[in-house]
Amino acid sequence: MNKPEANVLDRIRVVLSHTSLPRNIGSVARAMKTMGLSRLVLVNPKRFPDPEALTLASGATDILEKAEIVDTLDAGLVGCTQVVALSARRRELTVPVQNPRELAPFLLSRCMVGEDVAIVFGTEMSGLSNEEVRRCNRVVSIPANPEYSSLNLAQAVQVIAYELRMTLDTDLSHLNEVHELASHDDIERFHADMESTLIKIGFLNPDNPKRLMPRLRRLFGRVQLEKVEIDILRGMLRAAREGRRH
Ligand code: SAH
Repeated sequence: MNKPEANVLDRIRVVLSHTSLPRNIGSVARAMKTMGLSRLVLVNPKRFPDPEALTLASGATDILEKAEIVDTLDAGLVGCTQVVALSARRRELTVPVQNPRELAPFLLSRCMVGEDVAIVFGTEMSGLSNEEVRRCNRVVSIPANPEYSSLNLAQAVQVIAYELRMTLDTDLSHLNEVHELASHDDIERFHADMESTLIKIGFLNPDNPKRLMPRLRRLFGRVQLEKVEIDILRGMLRAAREGRRH
């Protein structure tokens, strides 16, 4: 998959249930925005809005401003066809637990056909209640140290959001400089120059060439030469042929 369709990610709601700390809400907004998610739903947050949330959101305050605040989990899930509970704990009577990498392609495929989906995160102190988990049709756990498996809320959101992003778009080409590569004919001209130059300066004996040229071909064949580099190499050869002294 190539460029993420903005409206695909816009179909994913991050639902935070009964969050205690505004700074976690702020960090969640930042985690979401870095990965391209935008819909935050807060179920009965203890303190919100709050300056601490704004500080931790850094440049993602727009997500907080747009956040939907609801009284009950059900109100936050209206219209969603898929509801995913995020839990580190062993639960009874749930569907089989998936990891985030298994979840991401499924969830995105639902969004691509125009469905709305939700990912539900619990409170810092006690996580999601059994009642809340029962309202979800999937349970996802982030594989972690079995003796210490509870991530910070915003970090859990970050992991999920990253998996969604990686499934949708892994393109980093905008960070790389573009260098024009040498073409076949550029490279052939270079090898012809090299041969004539090596003969001219007495390094290659045309009557007994041995395997010098094929070896040099192999050497330069190992690197992907750029046009600029070919120009430099050919310039060097010309200077050597002409016996230039600055
Ligand atoms: N102390 C709580 C966890 C709180 S962490 C407990 O015992 O459940 C806050 C929320 O982050 C959790 O409710 C869950 O939604 C998410 N989370 C944290 N670690 C996770 C993990 N390893 N896998 C899945 N979700 C996790």
